[in-house]
Amino acid sequence: MAKRDYYEVLGVSKNATDEEIKKAYRKIAMANHPDTHPDDKDAEERFKEASEAYEVLSDKTKRQNYDQFGFAGVEGAAGNYSNVYRDFSDIFGGSFGGFGDIFDSFFGGGRRQGSQGQSSAVRGASLQYTVTIPFKDAIFGTKVDVSYSHDDVCDDCHGSGGSGTRTCPTCHGSGQVTRGNGFFQMASTCPSCHGRGQVIDNPCPSCHGSGLRKKSEKLSVTIPCGTDDGTKLVLRGKGNAGPNGGPAGDLIVFVRVQDDKYFVREGRNVFLQVPISFTQAALGADIEVPVVDGGKVRVSVPSGIQSGKSLRLKGRGVPSFKGSLDDRGDMYLTLIVETPKRLGLRAKGLMKELAGVLGEDSSPTPVPFER
Ligand SMILES: [Zn+2]
Ligand SMILES: [Zn+2]
Repeated sequence: MAKRDYYEVLGVSKNATDEEIKKAYRKIAMANHPDTHPDDKDAEERFKEASEAYEVLSDKTKRQNYDQFGFAGVEGAAGNYSNVYRDFSDIFGGSFGGFGDIFDSFFGGGRRQGSQGQSSAVRGASLQYTVTIPFKDAIFGTKVDVSYSHDDVCDDCHGSGGSGTRTCPTCHGSGQVTRGNGFFQMASTCPSCHGRGQVIDNPCPSCHGSGLRKKSEKLSVTIPCGTDDGTKLVLRGKGNAGPNGGPAGDLIVFVRVQDDKYFVREGRNVFLQVPISFTQAALGADIEVPVVDGGKVRVSVPSGIQSGKSLRLKGRGVPSFKGSLDDRGDMYLTLIVETPKRLGLRAKGLMKELAGVLGEDSSPTPVPFER
């Protein structure tokens, strides 16, 4: 879809004042805000589009660039939503319950449940943990212990935060307060009860009323076969518990794979370079080479093979991610012919004789290979 002109998006003229731009944006943002239009994709699009336009037109330099060069003049500023959200304090005055909420609802994170309800349950944050595993473990799979700490429901109060709860006098239980500003009515999380709708007279001493406590956790995580460097494994619900009874976030295990000393992996294939001697290359030979399974296999090198040529060992590569160990990629053996470095008198004589038999001349002008 073609991008609409920023002035058109906000419905203002090219020479609109800063105040007019702000006003126009506020109106669109209010009418399409994701908090008041949950699951409305069109509203979300309009909100994003207007936010991007405002991000540019509210900034003197960016607006100048845009006026002069169009979208090309503001590349990098526009379309980057994390940027778009950063400078909004003047518009919302922090009264939308924090940018975290706005941000989350865009990116599939938690959303406050039931704006009329008694609490503002929010999904807990997801956590990331990086593990580094040996090359061969990534191919065949392994288990790793993951120790981390996260917010969990407080044992002492079972998440209630304490006793003597009563309806919050500030918001009368809604968890939200509304602030008027002309005809712009903005709802925000109640500062007295932090959206719970209730205040606690005797807060739990362990969690100070939050209902959450830091807890250490140790998990044994299965790394499936065929895992590659950079794979992210998602453990649902193993992240932080959600405030006010919200669902827990995820634990994301980010897998790094160590390089091997000999093997190189590309997708499902494994590559190995092995040296062979000059006579092995000429006469052919049975050699033994290591494989990722451990141990060695016998390989027949055909006579007359050239340096740099590869042999394929079928089924000695990597299984597909979470796949079967019977269905693996291949291994490629690259043969590097080594020229003897030091020759004894007898070897030198034989070599010269061989050159004569092969009819090689000692011309210093070899014909290059064709490309
Ligand atoms: Zn507690
Ligand atoms: Zn309240």
